[in-house]
Amino acid sequence: SISSDCPLMRDDLGRASWSLLHTIAAYYPKSPKSDDKQTMKEFISAFSKLFPCPECREDFQEEILKDPPDLSDRLSLSKWFCNQHNLVNKKLGKPSFDCEKVLERWKTGPEDGRCD
Ligand code: FAD
Repeated sequence: SISSDCPLMRDDLGRASWSLLHTIAAYYPKSPKSDDKQTMKEFISAFSKLFPCPECREDFQEEILKDPPDLSDRLSLSKWFCNQHNLVNKKLGKPSFDCEKVLERWKTGPEDGRCD
């Protein structure tokens, strides 16, 4: 394993980035105003141009064109990110994640309370 004071490699950066993206989506408003939608749209667009992995961001930009972010509310946006993450999981041969559980994973925590 790499020392924690070294620059991030793709996997660490990916994990950290998905954590941020899913958590941001989980805290997106349930009833977003047009301003919230605009800010999120700009964030995703900027992220897709700045993510420091050329292959990753090229594919992500293509997927965004095919299936633009669903900015309508918290659950829709969370599921959109979940679906995007699953496309990358599939590409990398990783297991698919059940998007019905996305808010449990990234906001509410499991029912047994072990994350409270
Ligand atoms: P990660 O895939 O990083 O997932 C972290 C945690 O998120 C998992 O442990 C799980 O609890 C949860 N999770 C898993 N799937 C989902 C889901 N669908 N929805 C919600 N939560 C989920 N790497 C490449 O090698 N090639 C690429 O082209 C590439 N493209 C990327 C594009 C983007 C936009 C990002 C953010 C990352 C990309 N990565 C890419 C990195 C890659 O997705 C992983 O982050 C990396 O391989 C580390 O994987 P991991 O197994 O640790 O878990």
